[in-house]
Amino acid sequence: MLDRRTKIIATLGPATDPPGVLDALIAAGMDCARLNCSHGTHEELRRRVEEVRSAAGRAGRSVAVLVDLQGPKLRLSATTVPRAVRAGEIVTFASTDNAVGDSRVLVDFPDFPRLVTERSEIVIGDGVPRLMVESSGPGEVVARALSSGELAPRKGINVTYARPELPAITEKDQRDLALAADVGADHVALSFVRSGSDIEQLRARLDEHGSPGRTIAKIEKIEAYEHLDEIIAVADGVMVARGDYGVEAGVARVPLMQKDTIYRATQAGKLVITATQMLESMIHAPEPTRAEATDVANAVIDGTSAVMLSAETSVGEYPIEAVRAMSQLAEAAEEARDIHGRAREIRDTPAAAVMHAAVELADELNAAALLVPTSRGGSPRACAKYRPPRPIIALPDSQMVANQLALEWGVYPQTMNVTGTVDDLVDRALLTAREFAGLATGTRVVITAGQRTGTTGATNLIMVREIP
Ligand code: PEP
Repeated sequence: MLDRRTKIIATLGPATDPPGVLDALIAAGMDCARLNCSHGTHEELRRRVEEVRSAAGRAGRSVAVLVDLQGPKLRLSATTVPRAVRAGEIVTFASTDNAVGDSRVLVDFPDFPRLVTERSEIVIGDGVPRLMVESSGPGEVVARALSSGELAPRKGINVTYARPELPAITEKDQRDLALAADVGADHVALSFVRSGSDIEQLRARLDEHGSPGRTIAKIEKIEAYEHLDEIIAVADGVMVARGDYGVEAGVARVPLMQKDTIYRATQAGKLVITATQMLESMIHAPEPTRAEATDVANAVIDGTSAVMLSAETSVGEYPIEAVRAMSQLAEAAEEARDIHGRAREIRDTPAAAVMHAAVELADELNAAALLVPTSRGGSPRACAKYRPPRPIIALPDSQMVANQLALEWGVYPQTMNVTGTVDDLVDRALLTAREFAGLATGTRVVITAGQRTGTTGATNLIMVREIP
């Protein structure tokens, strides 16, 4: 069971609703279920979370729940008349609230023209038509089409370099965030993040709701990539959201942005998810293409913490096969001689230096695993950032922390009572690891502990022991 280090996120939807599918997804390797707030009612989201918790309980596994907030998504008005736009054509945009029944293209956002700046481009749907802003006056925006494409009602619209008037967290997000807190989401992702302050707002709102959910910034806007280090500093993790980033920046810009984001996030010791179209052909086919297999492998070799499935599992014809394929591809790619993304220079606190030493010791002694008792998950995360070849068996005392840790690279969480003396803690850790991971008697492991057991940041002991 300790074979794969890269974690797998599967997006839930109608295809995962039939009885038994969630159990099969967990058996196939799903470590985290994603609920996309862009689709489905609150009743559906709530039911799906409850079903994940039940299926994880049946499997005896910690499975994370990630709630993905839609963020400030702009759309063309529902009254848009479908028509083709040709490259070179001039298109005038206005917003539904100051429409006067003319031929302008209306956007469903109050005072849309206020959002647009002189350097903005307007991108419709999956990338075409793309228009360059020529002028933005009171009540309307005039833009020239750089490429041809179709306009249609409710089509998505992206504006690059928009003014900050666009709220980071919309009213819909606030309702979804309250639900995320209520259902105990382990991770909460925010779409269309532009700066570190957007994530600070998300953290503040989660705190208001008493949610310990960890924050994930979706990197899908050009501005987000330009502020990447600032965002990485305040978020618990980032998602390389290739769909919308490809729309905004153009698909040619996706690969290097992905590699750079994985590099910078892993060097900072933060969680990083690679997402969108990873096994796209499996929406309709039971096997991935060679190109998809190579795409997954490249992300794994670069050190991504997790790979994500979207439509492949939410609405695809082969959701279980997609998770199984992802798991096999990740495991095969992890045979690479060097998994990149190993953090190099992060030993900022004594506790972090202790974890680094434990990782090195486990390597030197060829230990079967690192056993890491933890209160809030900081110590196993401090190990994971060094991408150790040995599995990290994390032993938190709360199921919520175990679920959060299920998404961390190489971490296998199992709950355990972490109070009592160090001797009690170590004995309990050895027995728990034996039961949970099936480690045989006599197997050598490295175990970390703190003299003040159950206290965050108090890990200051490393021991080499054998499983009893
Ligand atoms: C993306 O755009 O790549 C993404 C992950 O976001 P969503 O699925 O919400 O469009």
